[in-house]
Amino acid sequence: MRNGQELYFFVDRVCQMATVTLDGLRKEYDKGTVTAVDDVSLQVADGEFVTVVGPSGCGKSTTLRMIAGLEQPTSGRISINGDDVTAVSARQRDVAMVFQNYALYPHKTVKQNMAFGLRMSTDLSRNKLEKKVHETATMMGIESLLDDRPGELSGGQKQRVALGRAIVREPDVFLFDEPLSNLDAKLRTTMRTEIQRLQETLDITAIYVTHDQEEAMTMGDRLAILNDGKLQQTGPPTAVYEDPKNEFVANFVGSPSMNLLDLRVERDSHSVTLSNGNRFEYSLTDEQARRIDSYTGDMVRFGIRPENVIVGEQGIETTVDVIEPVGSDNYLYLDLPGEFIARVDSDLEPDRGETVRVTFGASDVHLFDPESGKSILSESHLSTVAL
Ligand code: ADP
Repeated sequence: MRNGQELYFFVDRVCQMATVTLDGLRKEYDKGTVTAVDDVSLQVADGEFVTVVGPSGCGKSTTLRMIAGLEQPTSGRISINGDDVTAVSARQRDVAMVFQNYALYPHKTVKQNMAFGLRMSTDLSRNKLEKKVHETATMMGIESLLDDRPGELSGGQKQRVALGRAIVREPDVFLFDEPLSNLDAKLRTTMRTEIQRLQETLDITAIYVTHDQEEAMTMGDRLAILNDGKLQQTGPPTAVYEDPKNEFVANFVGSPSMNLLDLRVERDSHSVTLSNGNRFEYSLTDEQARRIDSYTGDMVRFGIRPENVIVGEQGIETTVDVIEPVGSDNYLYLDLPGEFIARVDSDLEPDRGETVRVTFGASDVHLFDPESGKSILSESHLSTVAL
């Protein structure tokens, strides 16, 4: 993709104000036996890039398809720029969708593919239409491919054409449905950056769906995490990572996953200690003890991310079961309950079977209610999903 002139040439033409509001969106299938999307409310600001992420089958595509107008919600409301579009047809919604499988017409050339949607949605003269297609193709770095057919293109080129076809229409909202899943890892990384730059430069409102939490963490202003059709948490990637509101989010975001283990809450008049009755003990700070004051359960699920496990001279004694080098870091699989991993600098290379000690920084510790999965320490408890 080009930087410079072509891009700026485009900016004031493409950029349009667009907000998207989902209000109690619900979609049932099979006579109500399947609830694909369950009461999802979300506001996407003008020019915002929101990444909807969650495991396969959690309702991401259905949500996106409802925004596009390709599925009718069972109940709830979709507004674009404050206008209720729930009953408006896909064609009249002024949204463009980019799909995983590119959805290009195989018998049309790149130029014809890019012009097709534009021809359908506008009454531009042939000259103007060609000019716009050329401008967009130049911006996307695919001008030399304009006379090729999709079959002659690589996966990355096809996805650029699909993006160009969406951009040329100057829609209010861009919807991306796992657009990079068919590309190899290296190209995926490049295309992520391209899409982000494009979105920022053109200042477009974008909703991007992916099942890949790593991709989600690197893209977008805000994550919207779905599970089982329900919105779990929204927020900037770092905020969600650092302050997951429930165990699902804690576990889903981050790789390797957060270490989780069940501990008994032992309260006395001075302190609160968490223990597994064996070697694993953690004394809460006064601040932590105050926060869990209203928690009445006997057990908590203790969570610590692998990179927050401090391996040193002090703390809980354990042994290293396996050491796994991953480039700049080593993963130490420790002999603690669950699959307990410490992510340490590659300089730290204990032998297998070696005794080490671990501690945890108070601000890195997460505690969840094992029954509800809700975070106990989090500043804002998940009594209602914060949007
Ligand atoms: P995701 O995009 O997160 O993988 P989907 O939105 O495709 O999830 O699907 C959510 C749930 O709805 C899944 O259980 C799926 O099987 C179901 N579903 C999706 N589309 C249909 C359909 N047309 N008919 C019946 N069930 C569907």
